[in-house]
Amino acid sequence: MKSQRKRSLRRHVVRLGLLCSLGCGRTPVPPAPAPQPPVLVLAPQPAPQIPDAPQMPPALVTEHQQRLGREPLGVLLLKSGVGHEDVVSSVAVMQPLLDVRRMRPSEMVGVRLESGKLSQLTIRRAGDDGIPQTITVTRAPSGAFESRADSLEIRKVTEAVSGVVKSTLYESMIALGESPSLINQFVDVFGSAVDFYREVYNGDAFKLVVEKRYAGDRFIGYGRVVAAEYRQASRTLRGFAHTSGDGRPGYYDDKGRSLLTAFLKTPMEFTRITSRFGSRFHPVLKENKAHNGVDYGAPTGTPVWSVADGKVLSAAYQGACGNAVMIQHSNGILTGYCHLSRFGAAIKTGMRINQKQVIGYVGTTGRSTGPHLHFLMKKNGGYVNPQTLDVPRKQGLAGAELEAFKSVLPSLATQLDAIPSA
Ligand SMILES: [Zn+2]
Repeated sequence: MKSQRKRSLRRHVVRLGLLCSLGCGRTPVPPAPAPQPPVLVLAPQPAPQIPDAPQMPPALVTEHQQRLGREPLGVLLLKSGVGHEDVVSSVAVMQPLLDVRRMRPSEMVGVRLESGKLSQLTIRRAGDDGIPQTITVTRAPSGAFESRADSLEIRKVTEAVSGVVKSTLYESMIALGESPSLINQFVDVFGSAVDFYREVYNGDAFKLVVEKRYAGDRFIGYGRVVAAEYRQASRTLRGFAHTSGDGRPGYYDDKGRSLLTAFLKTPMEFTRITSRFGSRFHPVLKENKAHNGVDYGAPTGTPVWSVADGKVLSAAYQGACGNAVMIQHSNGILTGYCHLSRFGAAIKTGMRINQKQVIGYVGTTGRSTGPHLHFLMKKNGGYVNPQTLDVPRKQGLAGAELEAFKSVLPSLATQLDAIPSA
């Protein structure tokens, strides 16, 4: 017991202040006139009896921050030197603000002990919507615990992002300080028109308007891309967001026509593809000119989705193709996904599949020298190049939906036009 206590003290930051410099005279901040979160009070607890505790000097304050990790909060508190009864009552007083059983390992737990007794407990976490939240439990002068939750105010700012592709779209957007989730959003806007893995060229230019959320000055996440443009030597694509009356989001051109066809160009999340680094010159791709299909390098286990609605023709081991899923689509088109490490949950011959439904995971089964997806497409029995496949667009907007879209389009188009061309 003694040696354990010694060890734990060494781990802590120990501050031995003048009497009361750090805490014992601390009183809870009186409620400001601003609206306050609810304060909960539990009945005072008797001081815990610690049988062989050494005499602590007055106002010995120890503070201690760590990630929750895999253990329950109660266990962490006990290991941090909090007495059993204080563990029970501090957790109880927080319970209406935070379900401790649903805490995540990454959440930060701060414990402050004064003269060996819990004086403050803080939990720093991402609350609803990823908004940073701090839950604080403090001991009131009466000895009872009180809890409160503070969230930073969230600012939503519409911002423009633009640039020119040098080497790859991925690298160019990362170089602007943006993150993969924005890249995936952008790629999804034009997901039926461009294979951003293979059809991207130096000098292509991109622009987008996106809502960004900040907590204080800290960026905490993207909202939706509301307008986007991709300009290539031969064409300029533009997409504008619209959510239909029944809640379905989509992207449309300036005539209200859908940007998507029944088929997506890429069978997995763009930012998971490893050869995005100079993909067009990747040796695996060169080698592929000899065979039918497209190879996407990606780590084993990366989810692979069906590029269109369809029906599973087979999900089985097939020689050189390894674990493979074949899907029959409309218009006599078949797609195949080879070398999978495993199949998607419950994927069976004959079942219906939706576009973007996960049908398996990248692997290197069959004749393959490393983890990648071999993606093939056939039409009426013959191989076709997925890049050049021409299929009709999905249904566009009409009637009241089109009118609603047209009423916001000018403002979206103006925002896009206002971004200087790079
Ligand atoms: Zn291949």
